Amino acid sequence: MFDVIIAANGISSRMGFDKLSAGIGTKTVIDRTVNAFRDIPEIDKIILVSNVAYDISGVVCVKGGSTRQESVKLGLEAVTSDYVLIHDGARPFVSRDLIISVMNTAKEKGCAVPCIPSSDSIRTVKDGKIIGGIDRATSFLVQTPQGFNSNSIKYAFEKAELSGKSYTDESEMYSKFIAPCHTVTGENANRKLTTPADFFGLNARIGTGYDVHRRQDGKKLKLCGLEIPCEFGLLAHSDGDVCLHAVMDALLTAVGERDIGVFFPDVDERYKDADSAELLKTVLKILNDKNAEIISLNLTVIAQKPKLSNHIEKMRSNLSALLNIDSQKISISATTSENLGIIADGNAIAAIAAAVVI
Ligand code: MG
Repeated sequence: MFDVIIAANGISSRMGFDKLSAGIGTKTVIDRTVNAFRDIPEIDKIILVSNVAYDISGVVCVKGGSTRQESVKLGLEAVTSDYVLIHDGARPFVSRDLIISVMNTAKEKGCAVPCIPSSDSIRTVKDGKIIGGIDRATSFLVQTPQGFNSNSIKYAFEKAELSGKSYTDESEMYSKFIAPCHTVTGENANRKLTTPADFFGLNARIGTGYDVHRRQDGKKLKLCGLEIPCEFGLLAHSDGDVCLHAVMDALLTAVGERDIGVFFPDVDERYKDADSAELLKTVLKILNDKNAEIISLNLTVIAQKPKLSNHIEKMRSNLSALLNIDSQKISISATTSENLGIIADGNAIAAIAAAVVI
């Protein structure tokens, strides 16, 4: 009853790379978009319009034109079902509920266009000045998939071609040549990936790390690779830098690796009195080999003694140098344990780290 046209012939000019081949998790954008339409009983076939030979099974491939309008028209030539859904290849988050909602309304009314209210005000701007406003109560953002009676939208395309004008999407054309479009409620998540910033967060991974070491008198205290004036150090096989240990575990787990106990066992003589900053270099190499980049790092130090507030900035800049990232990406907080538990009386120092990598 429905064919689906997926418009996948955009040139990603605002992206700088083929956004449809980009990965989101373990799938590409275009894979996710196509998969959204698979296994819906009323969908007869999926027509992928693109000049890129994507490796996707179970779709009808049609070469695209030089504009979106031309590409969709070429896709329409392959449509044989009574109704058609037309969808942007760069909207991989469309839900099955929205697709079904568009299909139901299109069958009933001949046309269905998902819209969401605009949360920002919309103004008309000319030469850097606001010259008019559009009432937010009646302003909506138009999404895809848009559903149409196949013969009607084909007719609208013929009329559009004769008019010589270009239209931003099929709903504008349908409204112009057939009838006002019926709307269904769109979804905020159904956003279009347009700029690299739209991808931010989609592949981000989080890692956490925790470490604690008991006090050792007569040893130097090192935190974030920095010697901190203190009456005690921390008992450990290595230099006992509890902060760097938590940071390393956060980084390793963010890229799916095991913890530092696996990489640098405390029974291994090679790591006796090891400089944790040196161990961190190995961890950074692991991240580098996985093409992972640190987006942000947060560290919380829990210590009753010494008082750390005057050292936080120096610890931060040292950590920034060790990780070779901007200090703005790092935040460090310090707290006491209210003299409770293992941290009380300066008997131990603990650290918790959280890292986001992409
Ligand atoms: Mg440790």
